[in-house]
Amino acid sequence: RKGNVVITGASSGLGLATARALAETGKWHIIMACRNFLKAERAAKSAGISKENYSIMHLDLASLKSVHQFIDNFRRSGMPLDVLVCNAAIYLPTAKEPSFTAEGFELSVGTNHLGHFLLSRLLIDDLKQSDYPSKRLIIVGSITGNTNTLAGNVPPKANLGDMRGLAGGLNGLNSSPMIDGGEFDGAKAYKDSKVCNMLTMQEFHRRYHDETGITFASLYPGCIATTGLFREHVPLFRLLFPPFQKYITKGYVSEEEAGKRLAQVVSDPSLTKSGVYWSWNKNSASFENQLSKEASDTEKARKVWEISEKLVGLA
Ligand code: NDP
Repeated sequence: RKGNVVITGASSGLGLATARALAETGKWHIIMACRNFLKAERAAKSAGISKENYSIMHLDLASLKSVHQFIDNFRRSGMPLDVLVCNAAIYLPTAKEPSFTAEGFELSVGTNHLGHFLLSRLLIDDLKQSDYPSKRLIIVGSITGNTNTLAGNVPPKANLGDMRGLAGGLNGLNSSPMIDGGEFDGAKAYKDSKVCNMLTMQEFHRRYHDETGITFASLYPGCIATTGLFREHVPLFRLLFPPFQKYITKGYVSEEEAGKRLAQVVSDPSLTKSGVYWSWNKNSASFENQLSKEASDTEKARKVWEISEKLVGLA
């Protein structure tokens, strides 16, 4: 049978390019988990993904209720779950004030980390039940959360601190909207959320890999300077960022190439090792990359996990 893969945020950028790359193999049915049905439908059509290869199911990661509803809908469809890709993200670098999710968490960490945390914690049970030979849970990471790289050292740097803001619920009322308890900074909130994504993947690996055989992985697909992620940025940035990445840092990858990379992590028989953060070299060959000190700190991973369980109502 075909594999069933759920991809969050498959309506644009990396998620869409991955959906297309997988659909082209004829071996996958893609469940596009998206907040905007019409946009997702148009995106699938314009990417040339044929009808029998995808379904769209509503998911708004900025609402825990929506995450629960998505899981109900998915289970009612009767499809087994073979691979889950947590890909959706928002980036609000120019926001002066924080915005909040339905449950009152700062929007970047609430969407990118907490929404995905609840989704993946619950869907682990579905992955366990699947009889697919290579089951995987993939959480898209980023270099920007990685302070052991040049790009990861562009200020403001990711830093979870002692997580007092996260423990307080990131609500901006009786707690700071930032994980480390500091002043709101949209670019930093995004980077912090990506560190949480990478820590979560490793904690999943420690807690579930031996018992379930599921492969847990994260990746940095390269700088895809053309995606919607930068839509909130100032126009001059959006104009100069793609050529800067192409010619100066040389970290630029096209959406198509990045989609092929994530599709490899979904389906390539040689990428089954669990607990790995994949990256690609100049010749587009995959390798196991090192994470920064903070993004591989086991104590922090456990703490992020435990606080997140409380915030999303699992503990
Ligand atoms: P895009 O903005 O193109 O895609 C993000 C997707 O997430 C969109 O489909 C968007 O939906 C969706 N999304 C946002 N908020 C929600 C929500 N509340 N509920 C459900 N879906 C939501 O960005 P990219 O493709 O660039 O980003 C994809 C991933 O790649 C992210 O995890 C990002 O951190 C990572 N990444 C990107 C890099 C880059 O250079 N672009 C580099 C490294 C990592 P909608 O279409 O409705 O807006």
